[in-house]
Amino acid sequence: MSAELIGIDVGGTNFRLGVVQELRVVWEKRFQADFSGVCRRQSAADALETITATLNDAVAEARISYPDVRAIGIGFPGFIDPMTRQVISSPNLPNLSNADIVGPLERRSGLAVVLENDASAAAYGEFALSPQSNGDLIYIGLGTGVGGGLVLQGELRGGTHGVAMEIGHLTVERGGRPCGCGNRGCLEQYASTNGVVQTYAELTGKSLSAYDIAQAARQQDDAAVKTFEQAGEYLASALAHIAKVVDVGDVVIGGGMSASWPLMQTAFDQRLQEDLIPGLRGKVKVRISQAQDQAGIIGAAMLSGQQS
Ligand SMILES: [Zn+2]
Repeated sequence: MSAELIGIDVGGTNFRLGVVQELRVVWEKRFQADFSGVCRRQSAADALETITATLNDAVAEARISYPDVRAIGIGFPGFIDPMTRQVISSPNLPNLSNADIVGPLERRSGLAVVLENDASAAAYGEFALSPQSNGDLIYIGLGTGVGGGLVLQGELRGGTHGVAMEIGHLTVERGGRPCGCGNRGCLEQYASTNGVVQTYAELTGKSLSAYDIAQAARQQDDAAVKTFEQAGEYLASALAHIAKVVDVGDVVIGGGMSASWPLMQTAFDQRLQEDLIPGLRGKVKVRISQAQDQAGIIGAAMLSGQQS
C-alpha cells in the first residue's frame, strides 16, 4: 500500500491541505490565512516565519489522523526558481524575494517538501487524473489571477527560469491596466475575477463582485454579458498564441472562475477559431476541470511523491 502524501494549495487569503492516497483526497481542510496581508504588514523574514509556521501547524493537524504521511507538496502562487526551489517573487504575496519555504518547513516537519508554482501543480494533477495518450496538456487556472501549467510527454515543464506558461502575464492590451508583476495590460487584468470586476466598473461605473456580475449576466444584464464575453475573447487570443508555440491539443480550464465558463464560452470559441492558424482550427480541445478544485492538491502531492 502506498503511503499518504500531503498536498497544499496556497492562495492569498487561505490555503487548502489534503492528504492524498492513490490520486484520491482522503482528508481535506481549508485554513483561513491572510498570507497576502502578512506579506504586506510584516518584514520579509517575519512573513516567511509566519507562513512556514502556519503551514506546519496545518500539517501537524493532518498528521494526527495520518501519522504515516511521507512528504509534502506545495502549490504556491508565485515564480519558483527551478534550481534553488525558492520563491523568486509573488505578484499576490508582495515583498517575498528569493524566499525559502522548503528548508524551514522541512526542519519543522521532518518531512521532504517540494514547492511548485500553483498552476503547474494543478496541471500535473489534471494530467495524473486523466492522462492524455500523447502525454501533453495545458492547464489554465482562472481565479483572482490567471495561471497556467504545461505537461509535455508526461513531464511538467517549468522552463529554465520557472516562468514557463505564466500566461496571466501575457500582454493582451499594450499600455492597458497595471498589473502586480510591474507591467501593463496583462491577461490576468482582464480574464480573472479581478479583471471582470474592473471591466464591469469601466462599463457601468458600478463596483460589483465577480459573483454578482456573473449572476447579472445570467439574467441578461447587457454590461455583465459583455464583461464575460470580453474575458473569453482575451483568453482565447492568448491561448491561440500559446497553441501556435507549443501545439498542445488538450486544454483544461480550472479555478474558481471556471464556474462562469458558460458565460464566456461562445465568445471564447469564436475568437479561438479566428485567431488559430488553419492547421489547428477545430483541433484544440478545451474542457472544464472535473476535479472540483482538487487538482492543485493532488498534483502537489504527486510531485512530492516523485522526489521523496
Ligand atoms: Zn502581469
